[in-house]
Amino acid sequence: MGPVNVGLDIGATKTLGLVVDDAGAIRAEVREPTEPGAEGVLRTAARVFEALRAETGAELTGAVGVGIPGLVDTERGAVKHAVNLGVNGDWLHLGDLLADRLGVPVVVENDVNAATRGAVAMSGEDDLVYLSIGTGLAAGLVLEGRLRRGDHGAAGEVGHIPVDPNGVQCECGQRGCLETIASGSALAAAWPSGDVPPAQALFAAARAGDTKAVAVRDRFAAGVASAVRVLALAVDPRTIVLGGGVAHLGEPLRVAVADALLQQAASSPFLASLDLAGRLSVVPSDYPVAAVGAAMLGR
Ligand SMILES: [Zn+2]
Repeated sequence: MGPVNVGLDIGATKTLGLVVDDAGAIRAEVREPTEPGAEGVLRTAARVFEALRAETGAELTGAVGVGIPGLVDTERGAVKHAVNLGVNGDWLHLGDLLADRLGVPVVVENDVNAATRGAVAMSGEDDLVYLSIGTGLAAGLVLEGRLRRGDHGAAGEVGHIPVDPNGVQCECGQRGCLETIASGSALAAAWPSGDVPPAQALFAAARAGDTKAVAVRDRFAAGVASAVRVLALAVDPRTIVLGGGVAHLGEPLRVAVADALLQQAASSPFLASLDLAGRLSVVPSDYPVAAVGAAMLGR
């Protein structure tokens, strides 16, 4: 086997590990439920790595890239506030602790930024915004080939731009943030659906002609479109990629958001001239964009 890279995408429910070759092809894939808490996260990551070694029959001595939710100090490989993983309190020095267990160097990155690198690898574009519509709403920015984290690591946190003074209270303490309209948790609140993912249930009901579902879907799509518009007007990227859990909807999501963008541009020759709808794409639902991006970190 030629040179390969290992990427781990550590999520609240599962950890996905990939071995990716230099051409970007996936050579091995392992998925395990994520155990909660700092020790659980470490144990899960180590188990996935060992399974990748077993599956490939290779030593895998190169650096391992890790994408994880929460606040990440990339210099120190530390993570904080990964609430959904049960990682609270002080900084967890994930990079050092995991490197000790695996016997190889470890590079840690925030999951949205890791996925943004994956979107660059997937699209071949190096000037893009990746909008992650998961439990929350946040964007990653690669501008002219460089990842923009921001001075306080807050670049791309468009989910906390307030758009509705009469909207619901957001976890961040403000009111009417975009995240309260255009995120997986907002969808789950607006369209409770039992076992089926709310986004799938909502879009299916809207497609079947349920007028309430159409209204809820259109409000959601308009919220995502507003986030796209903010990002486009702030940094004007060549392409905008929709990802995150809700993007498993695939093409119907892109169409709904593109329609909302066209509607917003209908009264504005200026906005229309920017062709935001035409610059929009969505991550294919079977493409593990965050784990691929994590693998790129180890290069
Ligand atoms: Zn907020």
